[in-house]
Amino acid sequence: MANQHTQPLIGVDTFNWKKWDACTHCGLCLPTCPTYRELGLETDSPRGRLYLMGSAFKEEDATPLNEEWSEYIYRCLDCRACETACPSGVHFGELLEEARSIYEQNASRSVAYRFWTNLVFKQLLPNKERLDLMFELMWLYQRLGIRRIVQKLGILKLMGRLGEMESLLPKIPSPQLKYTIRDITPAKGETRYRVGFIPGCIMNQVFTETNVATIRVLTENGCEVVTPRKQTCCGALHLHNGLRDVASALAKQNIDAFGAVSSSRLPRAGFQDLDAIIINSAGCGAALKEYGVLLENDPAYAEKAEHFSHRMRDISEFLAEIEMIPPTGEIKRRVTYDEPCHLLHGQRVKEQPRKVLQSIPGLALIELTESEWCCGSAGIYNITQPELSQEILERKMVHIAETDADIVATGNPGCLLQIQLGIQKHGLSMKAMHPVNLLDYAYRGIAPEAFLAEE
Ligand code: SF4
Ligand code: SF4
Repeated sequence: MANQHTQPLIGVDTFNWKKWDACTHCGLCLPTCPTYRELGLETDSPRGRLYLMGSAFKEEDATPLNEEWSEYIYRCLDCRACETACPSGVHFGELLEEARSIYEQNASRSVAYRFWTNLVFKQLLPNKERLDLMFELMWLYQRLGIRRIVQKLGILKLMGRLGEMESLLPKIPSPQLKYTIRDITPAKGETRYRVGFIPGCIMNQVFTETNVATIRVLTENGCEVVTPRKQTCCGALHLHNGLRDVASALAKQNIDAFGAVSSSRLPRAGFQDLDAIIINSAGCGAALKEYGVLLENDPAYAEKAEHFSHRMRDISEFLAEIEMIPPTGEIKRRVTYDEPCHLLHGQRVKEQPRKVLQSIPGLALIELTESEWCCGSAGIYNITQPELSQEILERKMVHIAETDADIVATGNPGCLLQIQLGIQKHGLSMKAMHPVNLLDYAYRGIAPEAFLAEE
């Protein structure tokens, strides 16, 4: 399967050598890298991975682009902690995603790999109707008690990896809920802002309550919320897995969808008419804020993509920017905050989620040791690298347990699932929640006894 450089690599001409050259090999990023910390190998460090990219893509060196090379490149979490640590401003995430894209264009993957990649990344994630159907079937599977029977009969153990993946499946909310999200939701009281909203693909299927809560919080703060129907998956998972061409096509669809938004003020405006476009998923937010980079060489979209990315805001970032209406409902609970990598390292949003949580009366915010470390979720890392993902999660769980908190707040779907899994495994009486859900409960005066009792 290896490409032995008998012919030039496809896609290597677009590799950003200028950004790659910024690395001075100082090694300051190494102590912040979770895979280097776990495995202790230079090849599993940011500096080592940059070296591997150079050695494979420079013709004079011509290291084979083989499976061993790809193992190191794919063992990276794409957590971007190395970017925060780097004094030279190396855009590691961008380079990594480009490197994976070159690999995917040149490697001959197995039939099984191509089948699953095509199914998940091309047939399901970009297709809202198919995703809706799939998650509605999953909801039925759980709701009709089939899941309990399958678990009791030990069928999952016989299914190997597929069975293990099933155990990661969270409780799917009622499909009805997602259909309550309207194209335009009016502000409560006077309209102070007009914002776009991106519900996401998986986020809208699994964390529908968080999306509904986000819209409620925005309207509570005087926002008219526009949610264009024609938008699609943001392409973050595609980028992380080397499918840049698919990600670019999805980015264009989203830009076009927001390019034709309506609002109560202007019947047909465009995202220029919006004060911001809001996202509540950190991983998606980082990708959406980088559409400008993704499409910089596309003459028809480069400028629009740049404008679109400038309008993107994480929900906590937006609430910290505006004069947020303080909630009055008390949540007298100990809450710790774990930073999603793509919010902290990818978007440099650090204090805003804390500010949102601290606005809730009665809430005691407990600082989490190593809150800036990855939890091991990293997109689909817990599926592609299950053992390493668990080791990284274990490190996180030790610190979470130390806080003795009632709630672990974090603003990314993958982190919420991963941390909840860790909480269950360790038998802790805690719950992982998105900060915006807590804020929404505080606005609505719902007591913690009520929402913590929910399954
Ligand atoms: S992105 Fe994360 S895992 Fe990958 S090299 Fe950087 S710090 Fe290490
Ligand atoms: S990526 Fe940055 S911190 Fe890491 S070795 Fe290169 S210059 Fe140093």
